[in-house]
Amino acid sequence: MKVLVLNCGSSSIKYQFYDTETQTALAKGLVERIGMSSAVLSHTRYDGDEIKIVGEILDHTIAIEYVLGVMLSKNHGVIDDKKDIEAVGHRVVHGGETFSASVLINDIVMQVLQDNIELAPLHNPPNIKGIQACKRILPDAPQCAVFDTAFHVKMPPKAFLYGIPYELYKKYKIRRYGFHGTSHLYVTNKAAEVLGKPKEELKIITMHLGNGCSMAAVNNGRSVDTTMGFTPLEGLLMGTRCGDIDTSVILYIMGKEGLSLSEAQTLLNKHSGLIGISGESSDMREIIASVKETHKRSQYAFDIFCYRIKKYIGAYMAAMNGADAIIFTGGIGENSPDVREEVCRDMDFLGISIDPDKNKTKEFIISPQGSKVAVMRIPTNEELLIAMDTSVIVEELFINKDSSK
Ligand code: ADP
Repeated sequence: MKVLVLNCGSSSIKYQFYDTETQTALAKGLVERIGMSSAVLSHTRYDGDEIKIVGEILDHTIAIEYVLGVMLSKNHGVIDDKKDIEAVGHRVVHGGETFSASVLINDIVMQVLQDNIELAPLHNPPNIKGIQACKRILPDAPQCAVFDTAFHVKMPPKAFLYGIPYELYKKYKIRRYGFHGTSHLYVTNKAAEVLGKPKEELKIITMHLGNGCSMAAVNNGRSVDTTMGFTPLEGLLMGTRCGDIDTSVILYIMGKEGLSLSEAQTLLNKHSGLIGISGESSDMREIIASVKETHKRSQYAFDIFCYRIKKYIGAYMAAMNGADAIIFTGGIGENSPDVREEVCRDMDFLGISIDPDKNKTKEFIISPQGSKVAVMRIPTNEELLIAMDTSVIVEELFINKDSSK
């Protein structure tokens, strides 16, 4: 099946066009600066052909029309007709407590997405806009929603409840949701494939380390705990987010600096983490370069980043009574031997160690042969998982339609 995968942000849309039979991307691209002057569409075809278009792209509908225009174009295209797009899969950030798996989008689903806007005010509205735009432009293509939260929704209450009055959970749905679920699930599946065992028989700790970072404890294929919480601010130290913090610190700073709620949000989400500690950069490559120049605050940032991951590995091994594998993924996890080495340093008590030579390669397993815990480096592919989920749901839809005839 040919599936268009869309990740709609407030002013950008990332897309990939997948053939799910061969599991290959036929085209991918990005529309940036939607609603601003000189928006840019960058499109790359499977054979490396590239094109950049600059224009006035006022909203998500026009952006998707531009994308279709390039996909249909004689010189840069990959389809002859709009109908060649058999389904659309959307990355949707927040499914609340309702969705524990991907779903076919219908009016009821749209209503739940609307209801969840309060939980993800920055993310769900553009996701909804993207779905509405596709409804107009591709009315015959079934659409599916794949949620960042779905993989974690079935965590046990001891992992998802906060230590606040229970009534507040009931009243405002304040609980830990977790994010990056599609990535955690993708690398879990891939690890099971590489290790040659069903995921239902494995205990895995997944570490998605990108600009946003989160970990998950995956027991028998199910997420039983994760580091992000009510919002993607909790847990690990990130590029610009503080991660775990004593909430009194926030109240104290607000009082001392006279910060408003939104200023405090900005401080913790945009000016903290690697950039806040180092004062240099939110980008791990630059932090590592600056550590090599013996920049003290960058060294602190690097150390805190790795130390917190290490502590959560210990916590999740305790939660699951061990682990068969730990997996590094995301831009940092996949590409930084330095971070992997530092995280796994002095962990032999837990059966974790890294082969320094393998750590520099692109191999999936980077621990020495015969290690108790397989240390793995697996490139994530959220888009592929979205395309595959979408094709399964849509194929079932057609089977059900045929059998009801
Ligand atoms: P996003 O979360 O926005 O999808 P990515 O998963 O692409 O981001 O991760 C971005 C992070 O990956 C940045 O901090 C970047 O510095 C880091 N990164 C990419 N390549 C390397 C590398 N070779 N070494 C260290 N960090 C890297």
